[in-house]
Amino acid sequence: MKRLLYILLVVVLNVVFPIAVPSASAATTEAHTVVIGSGISGLAAASHLTALLPSSSKIIVLESTDRVGGRLHTLQDHFTHPTDGTPIPVDLGGAWIHGTENNPLTELATTTISPPLTHLTTNYDNSAYFDAGALLSSSAVDAIYADFEEVLSIVEQQQDSDTELPLSSVWDAAYADLSFTDAQQRYTNYQAVNEIELSAAASISSLSHWWWNSDSAFGGPDWLFPGGYNQITNYLATDLQIVNSDPVVSIDRSSSTTVVVTTASGESYSASNVIVTLPLGVLQKGGVAFTPPLPADIQSAIADLQMGVLDKNVLQFPSNFWDSDPSEKKDFFYNIGVGSSREELAPYLENLNFDKYVPGSNLLCVFDSGDTAIANSELDEATRVDAVMDKIRIIWPDAPDPTNYKLTSWWNNENSYGSYSYLATGSSPDSRKAFTQGVDGKLFFAGEHSCVDMASTAHGAYMSGLDAADRVAGVLKAARCMSGAGAKFGAGLLGGAVLAVTSWVLAS
Ligand SMILES: Cc1cc2nc3c(=O)[nH]c(=O)nc-3n(C[C@H](O)[C@H](O)[C@H](O)COP(=O)(O)OP(=O)(O)OC[C@H]3O[C@@H](n4cnc5c(N)ncnc54)[C@H](O)[C@@H]3O)c2cc1C
Repeated sequence: MKRLLYILLVVVLNVVFPIAVPSASAATTEAHTVVIGSGISGLAAASHLTALLPSSSKIIVLESTDRVGGRLHTLQDHFTHPTDGTPIPVDLGGAWIHGTENNPLTELATTTISPPLTHLTTNYDNSAYFDAGALLSSSAVDAIYADFEEVLSIVEQQQDSDTELPLSSVWDAAYADLSFTDAQQRYTNYQAVNEIELSAAASISSLSHWWWNSDSAFGGPDWLFPGGYNQITNYLATDLQIVNSDPVVSIDRSSSTTVVVTTASGESYSASNVIVTLPLGVLQKGGVAFTPPLPADIQSAIADLQMGVLDKNVLQFPSNFWDSDPSEKKDFFYNIGVGSSREELAPYLENLNFDKYVPGSNLLCVFDSGDTAIANSELDEATRVDAVMDKIRIIWPDAPDPTNYKLTSWWNNENSYGSYSYLATGSSPDSRKAFTQGVDGKLFFAGEHSCVDMASTAHGAYMSGLDAADRVAGVLKAARCMSGAGAKFGAGLLGGAVLAVTSWVLAS
């Protein structure tokens, strides 16, 4: 009888006050683990955990966008082949496996995924350098590299100073120590943008002189995937339970046993463990509420680490006007342009010859990073394309307008608010390490920003996801993301870091 009365009441309430009765969608979904974010770190965490736990353990991935991959984003059919109209996949975010030796992504791409993914090796030595439109001789390029190395060695000697400085201060002081001429300073400024700023996605005035080169790197060549990086993330996403297009807005761990995650649509998920792979930029914006607030060391890390910006301006032309010898296409063009300060030289300096990788595509990818990328991302697209073309026409005055283009604006992307993290003055590898501790044994972090040794990369993000899964499953032995960082002058780190910077820069 009581039950009948209740049903009657519900029916009446539903008619009179339709929103007074909780709908089925407001029910809490229970899971063993909720993973927030379906970038490569979240997908790695969810797929690895699936393998570690009994098959009955429910693992749910929550994603704000309508796709998986996050900052690995292959644009599938925006560009088409001029001759036959077939789509040309283009990566708007990460594109390379940097350092294929011992890199877990190499095994994934060549052994785990079947058939192995087609890849192409980038040949950085096969580049052309133009100064104010004129091709530089190889001896002139060698001289620029030699001066750059001299500055590097002075800057590295300063890294044991007691006071942390912006890298630019130490860098510019080295010019005076070396009595560089104006011409040498100009070229070394260009090289600092090319070798450091394009890699860090930050201007050297923002980087810490203690830490700018503290990351490690895998050895071996760098690979591009003509079929796009999302081949890897799509593979990882296979068979996972992923809820798309519903951003997480709050994470409540006030219960002693579970964490409750709520999304913008009002759905809630209750889990014993939550792995948060929200990008640093999203954590910094504060759009996701943590209850109770995160521990102080994680809050400091969120505030101290910074998001850098690397943007791609991908242009398709009626023809390839840049390779003078079509049988020997260059991998990169460096367009030193005009001006002498780093700010003047930085915009649209590096050009990847996409037409070498996808012959006949007539595609160029022009990079932009740091402060100039942030400033440029405020401009409308037509103004940006005009600026890119003004720079290209310093080398090729008769270059036609592009027939199609895609410009990224990672700084304004509300799902990352930047391209990847860097160690600004005031932060250190310990800032990254703060994310690896876990909170109350039920909240775990992953994502490129949390990979102590190899942050800002796809493989760093991937390994951080594997580590987080191991932590949840209680099987972590040695964290993949912490092979030895944390000490300011850890043995071998500096050398590895310079290598990391060099290989990344050349590739970015
Ligand atoms: C232009 C560019 C070039 C790069 N080049 C390279 C390269 O060549 N090689 C390399 O190794 N690395 C490169 N990187 C870096 C690499 O792409 C990243 O380090 C890596 O993809 C980050 O993975 P992640 O899982 O940590 O974060 P993400 O991929 O950002 O994943 C986080 C996920 O969380 C989602 N999300 C955000 N907010 C919410 C919310 N509120 N609720 C739910 N979900 C949310 C996002 O949509 C995203 O899917 C590049 C990056 C950029 C941008």
